[in-house]
Amino acid sequence: MSEVIVVGGGIAGMGVAWSLAREGTDVTLVERGTLGRSASWAAAGMLAPAAEIGFDELDLYDLSRQSLAEWPAFARDVEAASGIGVGYDDAGALVVADDRDSARALRRLFQFQESHGVPVTWLSGAEAAEMEPALTSRIPAAIHSPEDHQVDNRAVVRALAAACREAGVTVREETTVETIEPGHPAAVVLDGGERLAAPVVVIAAGAWSGRLAGLDPAPPIRPIKGQALSLRMNADVQFSHFIRAPRAYLVPKSDGRLVVGATSEDRGDDLALTAGGLYRVLEGAVRVAPGVEELDVIETWVGLRPASRDHAPILGRSRQPGIAMAAGAYRHGVLLLPAMARIVSRDVLVMLAGNASEVPDALSPQRFEA
Ligand SMILES: Cc1cc2nc3c(=O)[nH]c(=O)nc-3n(C[C@H](O)[C@H](O)[C@H](O)COP(=O)(O)OP(=O)(O)OC[C@H]3O[C@@H](n4cnc5c(N)ncnc54)[C@H](O)[C@@H]3O)c2cc1C
Repeated sequence: MSEVIVVGGGIAGMGVAWSLAREGTDVTLVERGTLGRSASWAAAGMLAPAAEIGFDELDLYDLSRQSLAEWPAFARDVEAASGIGVGYDDAGALVVADDRDSARALRRLFQFQESHGVPVTWLSGAEAAEMEPALTSRIPAAIHSPEDHQVDNRAVVRALAAACREAGVTVREETTVETIEPGHPAAVVLDGGERLAAPVVVIAAGAWSGRLAGLDPAPPIRPIKGQALSLRMNADVQFSHFIRAPRAYLVPKSDGRLVVGATSEDRGDDLALTAGGLYRVLEGAVRVAPGVEELDVIETWVGLRPASRDHAPILGRSRQPGIAMAAGAYRHGVLLLPAMARIVSRDVLVMLAGNASEVPDALSPQRFEA
């Protein structure tokens, strides 16, 4: 019997499994498809606590900054364990306006960021276009946000998968968990009827975490659809920062791809790529960088963000015996990966030792279980 079963092999599940295995814990990771091919594959890889700060998400901002600070060491460790580079890039971001209304909103964001000590600089459109010549100088204003970084999330997926195997995690792909059985020990029932027991079961099933039979109450997580695409940058259209515009973001990757995304649609499990969705993000990108219109399309895709009810991740032990969560990271799962892996793996070790949880109430599943 393993000490821990992790349900779901996205970055949340792999991050927790790898952290635990490095501490010598015997972990089985169950993934219904291939490791890391859901939201974690669909993401743009922005590590953007400053560019994406929400006026109503200040608690999340502190966790995000903490996780960003952990990223360089996390990247070094997973690269060393796997031999795969994850493309950690600290060039920063430009948050740009594309009309008068969005310039006013940008000014409010800037004032809010400044009042919370976020290191940002206000730029005119001409100054922004000087930093990034592919931007039109007609944009009214921009914020330079050096604190926002990025990684290649698909490389992170590959590296984590290799690191899990290297650390001795038992990986079961193409295997679906049908039912969770809380208890001492807890257990999972697989699609073929097999039952696996372990002292702790960690739920890391992304947007599907609330659907697993046996969780009561189910964690309040719903899928938020994101359509995105990648383009091939050319000699005229290159970026060193990633660009956050009102209707789209543009994230340059070191292999020459420009990731352009993403819609945000509350449509249940719908995974359809639509002309309207792709048009909206492309139109948003072309408004700020007209040369984008000429770029070759490489790929289009869609993913489901796991959105918790309050948009903060759901981490650590549930009230049900033997159950812990690493789910609900919504728009920031890549950014939050080091913090989620640390917080949940620590809580699982504390559970195994029979001690009280140290996870803050604002992140604990128990905030929804009262
Ligand atoms: C278009 C888009 C762009 C994004 N951009 C960014 C970004 O720039 N920066 C950022 O920080 N975040 C971004 N995100 C959010 C980020 O991708 C997610 O928060 C993160 O990947 C969630 O990871 P996860 O492991 O929880 O979920 P997932 O990656 O979805 O993994 C969950 C896994 O659980 C498996 N699973 C589900 N049910 C079962 C079951 N019953 N049995 C076994 N396995 C099961 C699934 O197959 C899946 O592999 C973006 C998301 C999208 C969709």
